[in-house]
Amino acid sequence: MIIIMKSQATDTQIEKVINWIESVGYKAHPSRGVERTIIGAVGDKRDKDVLRYAESLPGVEKTMPILKPYKLASRESHEGNTIVSVGPIKIGGPEFVVMAGPCAIESEEQLLESAYIVKKGGAQILRGGAFKPRTSPYSFQGMEEEGLKLLDQVAKKTSLPTVTEVVSPIDVDLVETYADMLQIGARNVQNFALLKKVGQARKPVLLKRGMMTTIEELLMSAEYILSSGNPNVILCERGIRTFETATRNTLDLSAVPVLKGLTHLPVVVDPSHAAGNWHYVIPLARAAVAVGADGIIVEVHPDPEKAVSDGAQSLKPEKFYQLMDDVRAIATAMRH
Ligand code: PEP
Ligand code: MN
Repeated sequence: MIIIMKSQATDTQIEKVINWIESVGYKAHPSRGVERTIIGAVGDKRDKDVLRYAESLPGVEKTMPILKPYKLASRESHEGNTIVSVGPIKIGGPEFVVMAGPCAIESEEQLLESAYIVKKGGAQILRGGAFKPRTSPYSFQGMEEEGLKLLDQVAKKTSLPTVTEVVSPIDVDLVETYADMLQIGARNVQNFALLKKVGQARKPVLLKRGMMTTIEELLMSAEYILSSGNPNVILCERGIRTFETATRNTLDLSAVPVLKGLTHLPVVVDPSHAAGNWHYVIPLARAAVAVGADGIIVEVHPDPEKAVSDGAQSLKPEKFYQLMDDVRAIATAMRH
């Protein structure tokens, strides 16, 4: 149920409604918009009708049931679009945001070089994996804490905020101390223990769609994070598995406008993991801007042939600069 406050409702009235919601056994999730405050009341109680009594509380305009299975993620529960801050960068606002960097952190030199490249190209956020979820247990698994320390150092040297993946609930606190945003990878999109744990974190979360999750399942996963207390979630379309084998995955570009209609959360696109081949990354990045995404996350490596992970889909510096020129031109055209 959502409780819509009158536009002139006072802070005390809002506070009283929150306390009342909690007193009847629900969790209150207030969302303060420009016009009015909307309070989501969520819980697993059967008797949701009790929440209708909120209509008699001072400052309340009306109550409305949310019919979708995802409540806090749904457009109804929030006025306008959510803008998520990653350090000083805002995702979901007017600016198209590019997150770029290597798939995996390999060494100080490799990460620093990558950071200078992506910064020179105009990317706003540095990506780099320290915990790598690999299909094979024999593949490089990431530099772990050592990698996180490098990420932190390079971020400070280049003034770029960072995003890095966390694959296990026990590592969330550690990753959070070094990174500006926590990535939940495609393989962990329904790792509910991990989702609840990042839901308790203070850093924003980049939630990637699984290769076999529907849009509704992705939103239900976002709901785990939101209902655990973290309102800062960014959704990422990174390609899904289809019968097609010419590309690593099939980039579901329609997911972007569909998600934009269903949720207030920002939506970004990962053309690299969708394509699996650098040749397709620039055209897919262009399409991501045109289809209305809030940003992209793209793999860039100073020397892709030597990359320990995802070299085939990583862009060389020159190609990344070209991508940035195209992205900027399309983003500018889209504003007119
Ligand atoms: C990654 O970002 O390097 C990654 C492993 O992505 P995904 O979870 O989308 O496969
Ligand atoms: Mn990768």
